[in-house]
Amino acid sequence: MNRQEIKKLLKSKESIIDIHTHIGISQKFYYQFGYPYALSLEDLIIRMEVLGIGHSVVFPFVDSAFCENDNQSSKIKTTKKHCGFPYELENRNLLNEINEIFPENNHKVLPFLMFDPSREAEKQAFQLEKLSEKYPVFGLKTATTYIQAFVNDLETKGKPILDFARKKQLPIVFHSAVHPEDPWASAYDIVDFAERHPDIRVCIAHSARFAKPVLEKANRLKNCFVDLSAFIIHCKLVLQNSLSIATEETRFFADYKDPLSVITGLTENYPDTMLWGSDTPFYYWIQKYYTADGTLVEDTLQCDFNEEAQLLNSLPDGIKDRIAYKNNIRFLFGSEN
Ligand SMILES: [Zn+2]
Repeated sequence: MNRQEIKKLLKSKESIIDIHTHIGISQKFYYQFGYPYALSLEDLIIRMEVLGIGHSVVFPFVDSAFCENDNQSSKIKTTKKHCGFPYELENRNLLNEINEIFPENNHKVLPFLMFDPSREAEKQAFQLEKLSEKYPVFGLKTATTYIQAFVNDLETKGKPILDFARKKQLPIVFHSAVHPEDPWASAYDIVDFAERHPDIRVCIAHSARFAKPVLEKANRLKNCFVDLSAFIIHCKLVLQNSLSIATEETRFFADYKDPLSVITGLTENYPDTMLWGSDTPFYYWIQKYYTADGTLVEDTLQCDFNEEAQLLNSLPDGIKDRIAYKNNIRFLFGSEN
């Protein structure tokens, strides 16, 4: 199906839309004994069928072959061994897998293309333009922590990418962070970016790490959404007092031992802002990554493949419809007909 047909299908029939999934590989995660490190479209579609998910927004995995694999250093180095600029390979492979290998399933997934706001933006924008002319594309995604790039660079070095998003009216999902040593993906920077660009629809991933000032501000902005991706392991991080989560003084008040009560509280307080997303396959997380001061962060967080969907299905229908369909349609298409 083409983009128009897929949009029509989505709008004509209510379904569960997962706003945050990944397919592809991460060599880096595999080489450093991380998990997960891969998922194919074929496997994602089977999971969606098992869990009753109608459509999934899908991005490549988090880093790019443009970033060198170097476990000895905390700084990202780049390489042109596999591709000429960030995500050249990953975006091409994603759309090829969806449209050329499994065209019969292309209406079930909504690809968002990855970008790096800090490096080679013109080359990226040129390819994004070309790919979106050839295949249905529904938005953009960036995970700046893992590539050590900066959200705010999207207005300067990354402007060709922002111009492309604006011209095509494509929404953007940002990986978010509140870790004091993560200057790359600050949830506060993302919500401020959304405020400066009211014509761009923005989604802050991972419940904005439960940072209440960010959630409150996002709720006041019509163009800013917050996704609930990898919700269960984020509740577990709160119980571990992780630096990856907002401190107690700035955290949304809830009983994090009970994820259902947390998600209910968030969706009652911010009914038009929250979007349901599983983060498949990253609802499970055994990884290592560096912060800006060179500290290696290591986490082991477990969650079953069906727990995120079960949590969604435990919510009353009125809330479920909003966060898994109505809000998601507004984020995806805005006022587009
Ligand atoms: Zn993710």
